Amino acid sequence: MSSEKSGSRSKMSSKFDDDPVVRWANSIAADPTYQGEACLEHFVQLRDQYVALLRRFARVTRISDSYQHSLKELNESLAEAARQDHLTGLPNRRAMLDELADQIGRAERYGEEFALILADIDDFKRVNDTRGHEAGDHVLVSVAHTLESSIRGEDICARWGGEEFLICLPHTELNGAQAVADKLLEAVAKLKTFYEERQISTTISAGIAVHHGSESLDATIAKADNGMFEAKHQGKNRVYVLE
Ligand code: GH3
Ligand code: MG
Ligand code: MG
Repeated sequence: MSSEKSGSRSKMSSKFDDDPVVRWANSIAADPTYQGEACLEHFVQLRDQYVALLRRFARVTRISDSYQHSLKELNESLAEAARQDHLTGLPNRRAMLDELADQIGRAERYGEEFALILADIDDFKRVNDTRGHEAGDHVLVSVAHTLESSIRGEDICARWGGEEFLICLPHTELNGAQAVADKLLEAVAKLKTFYEERQISTTISAGIAVHHGSESLDATIAKADNGMFEAKHQGKNRVYVLE
């Protein structure tokens, strides 16, 4: 903005020239009728103070807009963080439950099938007991990344609990789910996690369940859970299907 000396009678050029009060004050200040009037100087000062206030108000509005924008971004990242497992970065149980509710909705409306794989790390307590909790955390992160990178983009892998992962496979029937579970078991068995320069090997056991008809979500999850326990019972590092 360019202006002549504050308090001068001449017109200040500013981005507020379109403001009706400023426009009116400028026209008075420039009117030859009032030149030489004792109060004109004071009038021009008042106009300049008014423009200064307008400028300050615009700055406060800009700051307030920017705070509102930051607040909105913060809220969005908080909402995202509330749906993410902080250790592995995978969706957490809450996020997965929302996803599963959507799946059930689609199953009811369009008869779309989906399958679940519940995978639990074998003998994980031993890793914590022998190598320490931090080593256990490393294994959890490695297994999470291995599982996630072994599935398709539309599949979802969540951290379901401590060392349990739930994988949802939309549009997938039993044979497909079984092939995915086999692939996941193989990928984890091949995985070598290094902690303090020593290798930690691990395996998973998995239960598979395909959602049928009007079956409830709890019933489908329970099938995957029971399948996983059966896989443990049969010797671990294997897949079990409960139809
Ligand atoms: P199983 O083969 O029958 O599944 O045996 P397990 O030892 O894997 O299972 P168990 O339920 O006996 O132990 C699970 C352990 O996982 C106990 C718990 O302290 C540990 N755990 C759960 N969450 C975390 C975590 O975030 N970090 C670490 N390091 N350990 C965890
Ligand atoms: Mg376990
Ligand atoms: Mg477990």
